[in-house]
Amino acid sequence: MAKYKLEYIWLDGYTPVPNLRGKTQIKDYDSFPTLEQLPLWGFDGSSTMQAEGRSSDCVLKPVAIYPDGARTNGALVMCEVMMPDGVTPHSTNKRATILDDPGAWFGFEQEYFMYKDGRPLGFPTTGYPAPQGPYYTGVGYSNVGSVAREIVEKHLDLCLAAGINHEGINAEVAKGQWEFQIFGKGSKKAADEMWMARYLMQRLTESYGIDIEYHCKPLGDTDWNGSGMHANFSTEYLRTVGGKAYFEALMAAFEKNLMEHIAVYGPDNDKRLTGKHETAPWNKFSYGVADRGASVRVPHSFIKNDYKGYLEDRRPNSQGDPYQIASQILKTVASVPTGAKVSAAA
Ligand code: ADP
Ligand code: MN
Ligand code: MN
Ligand code: MN
Repeated sequence: MAKYKLEYIWLDGYTPVPNLRGKTQIKDYDSFPTLEQLPLWGFDGSSTMQAEGRSSDCVLKPVAIYPDGARTNGALVMCEVMMPDGVTPHSTNKRATILDDPGAWFGFEQEYFMYKDGRPLGFPTTGYPAPQGPYYTGVGYSNVGSVAREIVEKHLDLCLAAGINHEGINAEVAKGQWEFQIFGKGSKKAADEMWMARYLMQRLTESYGIDIEYHCKPLGDTDWNGSGMHANFSTEYLRTVGGKAYFEALMAAFEKNLMEHIAVYGPDNDKRLTGKHETAPWNKFSYGVADRGASVRVPHSFIKNDYKGYLEDRRPNSQGDPYQIASQILKTVASVPTGAKVSAAA
């Protein structure tokens, strides 16, 4: 028997985007616990915008468990928030709205700024550093400073220790701006791991006096890039059957559902999706082969492979909730007929 530190992590009820919350309970196990061995737990929903004061208990239901590399016998437990009956999803529980599809794969590219003393890490007290140019994928003190790389490396190791499918890191276009990518098979996997990776990043940077700024345009209407969270997606059908007619029907459905997508792609996206800085205007849907100025980028490989493979929706922003993003993408995909129905309609 050993004492395990279980960090139960969930999303609160703040809008337009939820915050991460977490609290620890200690339990005895013979070895690292499985999901099935983890009990339901509760919290005070009146402190998280999830309940009124009078009857404020909400239920935490574990849905994924990861080893916590920062704690001895530590586990990170991703939870869904349930009503007091323990089975009805709370209205703020967007994970529960994702269609189950083991054949759905997502790859999210999280861009973000590190902020210290109210400004991007490396910015002078007043004014701006040298203009954008050398920072993207840059190296050297004047490009990335002295602590950012240490943080992203530690974050990578924590993600790998947790079993999170972290795929890579790059310094981004603005000073103090970075990116990491998470890929997962199954409709909820990448989104779960993205929230957990965000948690690990925010916890790690506490001791550096650094905050993670997820806002999509923290420097406003300037020549400094905003932050996105491109959503790369595919389904079994798109990877193995695809075809031009299906692809065009899918893009027509994306165009038709433009507002539903924008509604969950993160707040203030109109400030980022302006048509400048490698973006498409937020209110006009477009797609293009290898086009980083389109809403959806179609990789060269997709066309070469007879319209099979994955697509990149470039509109989701850095502050978006990957649960809501995955949920909406899969809803739109599900509205498009596949197989014989496509040829009949085409
Ligand atoms: P870029 O910055 O050029 O858009 P990245 O390498 O940062 O490219 O991101 C590409 C993303 O696409 C990765 O997260 C990767 O996991 C994801 N991806 C690759 N193949 C698939 C696929 N078949 N289905 C879904 N996502 C995929
Ligand atoms: Mn990228
Ligand atoms: Mn990027
Ligand atoms: Mn991308």
